[in-house]
Amino acid sequence: MRALITGGAGFIGSHLAEALLDQGQHVIAIDDLSTGRIENIDHLLPHPNFQFVYENIRTETVMDRLVSECDTIYHLAAAIGVELVIKDPVRTIETNLIGTEIVLRLARRYRKMVVIASTSEVYGKSEAIPFREDGDRVMGPTIKSRWSYAESKAMDEFLALAYHQQFGVPVIIGRFFNTVGPRQTGTYGMVIPRLARQAAAGQPLTVYGDGQQTRCFCHVKDAVRAVVGLSQEAKAIGEIFNIGSSEEITILDLAKRIRSRAGSQSEIKLIPYDQAYGAGFEDMRRRVPDTTRIKAAIGWQPTIGLEQTLDEVIAQFK
Ligand code: UDP
Repeated sequence: MRALITGGAGFIGSHLAEALLDQGQHVIAIDDLSTGRIENIDHLLPHPNFQFVYENIRTETVMDRLVSECDTIYHLAAAIGVELVIKDPVRTIETNLIGTEIVLRLARRYRKMVVIASTSEVYGKSEAIPFREDGDRVMGPTIKSRWSYAESKAMDEFLALAYHQQFGVPVIIGRFFNTVGPRQTGTYGMVIPRLARQAAAGQPLTVYGDGQQTRCFCHVKDAVRAVVGLSQEAKAIGEIFNIGSSEEITILDLAKRIRSRAGSQSEIKLIPYDQAYGAGFEDMRRRVPDTTRIKAAIGWQPTIGLEQTLDEVIAQFK
């Protein structure tokens, strides 16, 4: 089997490459290293079944060849992180829309399967906790650029389902919920590596808002196992799956836990959202996945708890 991973030098992409190589698959990773990092795949470069292509997925001639040569495309390349989305909305929208359009068009041409990485952001401000895949989405106004990420990923989902229904392209959509673990950087906003770095450096831990917003953090190895499992299950084709943990924690409690596990004396500082992200920022109060569907499809559930995940991330910054 030959897998093509777009965004293969990214945080999740590099872990996925490892998992597929472990299964004996050939892996081609394409990445323009805009947010991906060569350090993430340095250890894979000598592997005989691994190939890295340094290119943007919008370069269609290259993508045409890569798609024609693979069996399954894992489409993970995307503009990521709330901070980047706010700073560079054009790149977010164009990468997410145009990149996915190219992937799907080529998958149709060469009759290949596509696994699309989507996000819990598509639920927006919904309060129907836990979020079900068929639940309503609640979006903010277009003047708030944060929502462009959710909308662009939702368009990716629409397009993927349309290619499936109209042209029979086998697609599977996974909605990742706050995936964390080694190799994730805090550069684009992600809270756990950020707070872990601050704790290790003895700097104040920056908690945004009142810290009472909640998230469920899933270890990247569990998330990758879900993706691989789904891609090898025929019943998953044409379906959408939440991929996330159900262990809910407030960001303030998360900061306290990181501080104590890092043995840090840092203070915890509450920073108003306006100061962190600019005026008028809207955050989600709670974000919890309903994982009934993926459990029924492939028997998946997370196995790595938050404590272990935090220890692994903290260890990176020590
Ligand atoms: N957050 C925080 N301090 C930081 C970075 C993020 O308190 O330094 C908060 C952020 O406002 C959000 C939560 O942590 O409520 C998770 O943020 P992240 O960017 O990791 O993921 P999101 O859930 O927003 O996609």
